[in-house]
Amino acid sequence: MKFPLRLPSAFLAVAIVLPPAKVLHAATTEVRQTLSNADITIDISSRGPSLSSIHRLDTVLRNSVSEILPTSAEVNGISTLLYWHFVPALAPTDKRKAVFVYESDTPHLRLSWEWQARADHGPLEHRITVENLGTDEVWLPMVDSLHLRIPYPTGHKFRHFYVEKGADTPSAVGTHLDDITDGYTWTGKSSTYAFPQKSEAREIIPAEFVFSSDLPNTGWFAGIEFSGRTRISLHRSDNSIETVLGLNPEPGPFRTRLAPGETFETPTVFLGAFTGGSDGAANQLHSWVRKVLGNPATWNDPQYPLTVNNSWGGGMQVDEAIALRMIADAKQLGLEMFHVDAGWFRGVGDWYANPQKFPHGLAPIADAAHKQGLRFGLWVDWTQAGLSTNPGALNVHDPKARDWLVSDLPPDWKPEEFKGETVDLGVPAAHDYLEKEVDRIITDDHLDMLEHDGYLVAQGCIRSDHPHAPLNQSTAKITHDSGFDFVIADNSTDVSYHAVRAYYDIYTKMRRQHPGLFFEVCNDGGRMVDFGSAAHADYFSITDTYDPLSNRRAFYDTSYMLPPAMLESYVEKWPTPRLENFLYMLRSGMMGWVSIMIDTTTWTPEQHNAARNAIALYKEKLRPLIRDAQLHHVSARPDGIHWDGMEYWDPARRKGVLFAFRGTIDNEESHAFVLAGLDPAQRYRLQFQDHTTPDTTATGRELMSRGTSIHLSHPLSSELAFIEELK
Ligand SMILES: [Zn+2]
Repeated sequence: MKFPLRLPSAFLAVAIVLPPAKVLHAATTEVRQTLSNADITIDISSRGPSLSSIHRLDTVLRNSVSEILPTSAEVNGISTLLYWHFVPALAPTDKRKAVFVYESDTPHLRLSWEWQARADHGPLEHRITVENLGTDEVWLPMVDSLHLRIPYPTGHKFRHFYVEKGADTPSAVGTHLDDITDGYTWTGKSSTYAFPQKSEAREIIPAEFVFSSDLPNTGWFAGIEFSGRTRISLHRSDNSIETVLGLNPEPGPFRTRLAPGETFETPTVFLGAFTGGSDGAANQLHSWVRKVLGNPATWNDPQYPLTVNNSWGGGMQVDEAIALRMIADAKQLGLEMFHVDAGWFRGVGDWYANPQKFPHGLAPIADAAHKQGLRFGLWVDWTQAGLSTNPGALNVHDPKARDWLVSDLPPDWKPEEFKGETVDLGVPAAHDYLEKEVDRIITDDHLDMLEHDGYLVAQGCIRSDHPHAPLNQSTAKITHDSGFDFVIADNSTDVSYHAVRAYYDIYTKMRRQHPGLFFEVCNDGGRMVDFGSAAHADYFSITDTYDPLSNRRAFYDTSYMLPPAMLESYVEKWPTPRLENFLYMLRSGMMGWVSIMIDTTTWTPEQHNAARNAIALYKEKLRPLIRDAQLHHVSARPDGIHWDGMEYWDPARRKGVLFAFRGTIDNEESHAFVLAGLDPAQRYRLQFQDHTTPDTTATGRELMSRGTSIHLSHPLSSELAFIEELK
């Protein structure tokens, strides 16, 4: 849901240029290693250290730069140059994992440079850790996660593919394919805020695909498994392409504290190589995210992704009577979860059921859902403090909590209806308190799913007694808006680094303590869609605008990066004068996880019946494909005017489906969709769910060249064409 935000003025970026790393090597100590899986092979060397080459099939890419290791550190206020020496005895290596270890004597630090293949397919992962082995506190400068410079012959052409987050409302573009001409310079940023500022590009889901035009549809991709402030930069000059991935160094200078015994970890990055164009990369990522980052308990749940009834259709009004009525109707419709959205609590930071609305608490509501065979989910903005003085509430004036807040509040500060002041999760005492609070809410309210909304990670923080770096008061920009503090400063990236690690720690523990529990990442509607969240939660609200076009646009973009089952669309009330429009509305939100956000008791009997059939069809025929099949973007990105479509094809089941949507266009009643992923030599049957088009058979070659034509008489209508390979 939407929060009022005040946008900051643009800040000045500060670029820090470091001298080259100093790594001391004895002449005989170079270790070379090859890591591989079925999709990619890399050669690495302890000299540098460096990744020297990337292989896929017959293609070899050379990398001409070593990793940039930190060149200096600060101890007791004095900057000291670091001299790293390779420690071969500490380099455990095998075909799937390599760790090259370097040490600095003064200060005493150990740096581990790691590569790993965690699956038989998909990308490899890389991270750098720095451990403080000394007895003094050490301040480290920025350590990037990965740095590559790949030389190419003169005249070689490239394209760069990336997608925006659906934060707030998907933009008119969403999916980008740029030509990488000489001099091309791009930086994509990700944080948990994703402000659509006019002065800056929209935030991206932190990954990049780079295509080579000499080998059409072939290239490499890389991304970041972290939810804090990160960036990916890409630049072309002198016949090479250079990219850097890692924490966002701006507005710098970045520095982070390492107490004795502490370890700093760069955000883990993944690096893959692909064929088959952007859908080839996307399908590789889908199965890799599921296998490597995904929660096995979630993917082993046969109901995942669930069909849900969410209470926000009635806004903040939800109460016991409305909830029980919605549960009964959800059961009637065949839905599988009842999800109470905002409006149920006593106050912001006071996450107990409002006694006027829920005199018996929430547990009996959860139990009523369970009795009907439904699961029970709950919206919580659990990192927020407010003004409630009830026992158990997190109050901004409580001396215990006051120092957890990211800044001092004006005396007349008041929270919004469901938004208060974010506490800094990176503070150990705040982390411990909120871990207990999340556990209490899950346990006491009998939850099967917890949705977190609001801004979970502090954007910046003025406190100097927190684990993160203190901010430079003279360069910081601090703005107060009713209920919202905006702090952007040299320490913002380090604040996010600590808060995100605390968030991951809490969710890791909750998963262990509550097996089978689902986590929804909403974070103000699609602002925290990244690969770190994907490793710690189960599905994403992908946008905060819920009409059919916005849902399809957000799905179109996001499904290039993450498995469709993890992508939730909220379906909101929308004008549906005809039943065809009603189905168009539902199906626009049914390509991944579907949550109906409409008071379904207001539907006509005809709509009710159509929805029940659509949900049954989803569970029987669509869900298995959404979980397991390959996805093909078989149209341009939806514009609401023309036709658009999405194809699932499961090579194992030899079944698939084409979602077809007709926009507002009134002079195009038929449209041919060119399919993908089929066997040209095989024959396929196409069955049209609504009988808008006669069932037919065709060869894969025909379907992948001239396509299959669909006829829809009405604008804003849809069809599902089920595809089956004939024996
Ligand atoms: Zn702080």
